Amino acid sequence: MKEIKIYSPATIANVSCGFDVLGLCLDNVGDEMIFRQSAERGLRIVEITGADLPLALEKNVAGVAGQALMEHLNPDFGIEMTIHKKIKAGSGIGSSAASAAGAVYGINALCGYPLSKKELIYYAMQGEALVSGAAHADNVAPALLGGFAFIRSYDPLDIVSIKAPEQLYATVIHPQIELKTIDSRSVLKQTVTLKQAITQCGNLGGLISALYTSDYDLLGRCLHDEFVEPKRSVLIPNFKELKDVAAKCGALGGGISGAGPSVFVLSKGKEVAECVAQAMKAIVANVDYACDIHVSPINQTGIRELI
Ligand code: ADP
Repeated sequence: MKEIKIYSPATIANVSCGFDVLGLCLDNVGDEMIFRQSAERGLRIVEITGADLPLALEKNVAGVAGQALMEHLNPDFGIEMTIHKKIKAGSGIGSSAASAAGAVYGINALCGYPLSKKELIYYAMQGEALVSGAAHADNVAPALLGGFAFIRSYDPLDIVSIKAPEQLYATVIHPQIELKTIDSRSVLKQTVTLKQAITQCGNLGGLISALYTSDYDLLGRCLHDEFVEPKRSVLIPNFKELKDVAAKCGALGGGISGAGPSVFVLSKGKEVAECVAQAMKAIVANVDYACDIHVSPINQTGIRELI
C-alpha cells in the first residue's frame, strides 16, 4: 500500500462517573488524514487544512505520536501526512486525539499493519502528552477502538474495549468560548470523601454493566459524577439548563465532555437525541458566541479507511 486516506473520529472523554477512565467514540464528527509513502526516509506533515496548526513535527500531536511510532517501526521509506481538520481544537471532543490516533493508524497501515489497534494506543498517547502534559488514553483509545474504552490501568497499560448499546446516541453542544485548561484543572479538588468515592464506584460499575447488557435505564441512573462536574460545570454557561432540557426530552443523562467546554448528552434512539439538539439550540439562541451542535450514533469501530 502506497497511500491511505482515513477518517479519524471525535471522542468524548471523562464520560460522567468515568472521569479519567472512560471515553467513547463519535461517528459523524471527525478529521480526514492522508498518508503517502515517499522515497526520503522520515515523517513529514506536508499540509494542514481547516485549522491553524504547526507543520513542525515536535509541535503537532500528530507529529509527536507519528514520530514515536516511526522510531519503533523504522520503515525504509518515508511518510508524508496531510491533515484535514474538521474537529475544532480545544473543543473538548478530542481534536488533538483524532490527530494523534490518526497518525499512528495511518503509519501502521502503510507499514503493513505490524501492530494491532490496541498496541497503537501507547504511541498515540505520546502525542497527547504534548498538549495535555500527561500521556492520557481516554480519547485516543476510543478513537482507535470505537465504542467505549475503559482505562483500567496505565502501569501496565490495560484498556478494556466495550461495544456501545445499539440504540445509543450522543448529542454534543460545543459553545465556542475559551475555557483555559488551567482553569478547568484549577477548580478540581485533589481529595474526595469516602462517601463520594463509594457513590462514584457504584455508578461506574453500574454504567459498565449497563453497556454490556444494553440496560438503558440503568445507564441513565449511573450518569452521575461526584468528582468533577459539580466544580467544573460552573465554568460552562447554561450547563444546568442544558442538562434540564435534555432530561425533559427523555434523555438518559450527560455531563461535561473532556475538560469542556462541550457538553454531551446520551439518549436511547435518534429521535430523543434530535429533540435534545433542538432544545439546546433554543437555550443558546441569544448568546453572543457561536455554538456547534452534533447528533451522532456511537462509532463502534473507531478510525476507518476511506476509499
Ligand atoms: P481537544 O480536547 O479538543 O483535543 P486539547 O486541548 O486536548 O483539545 O487540544 C488542543 C490543543 O492541541 C490546541 O492547543 C492545539 O493547538 C494543540 N494541537 C497540536 N497539534 C494538534 C492537532 N494536530 N490537532 C488539534 N490540536 C492540536
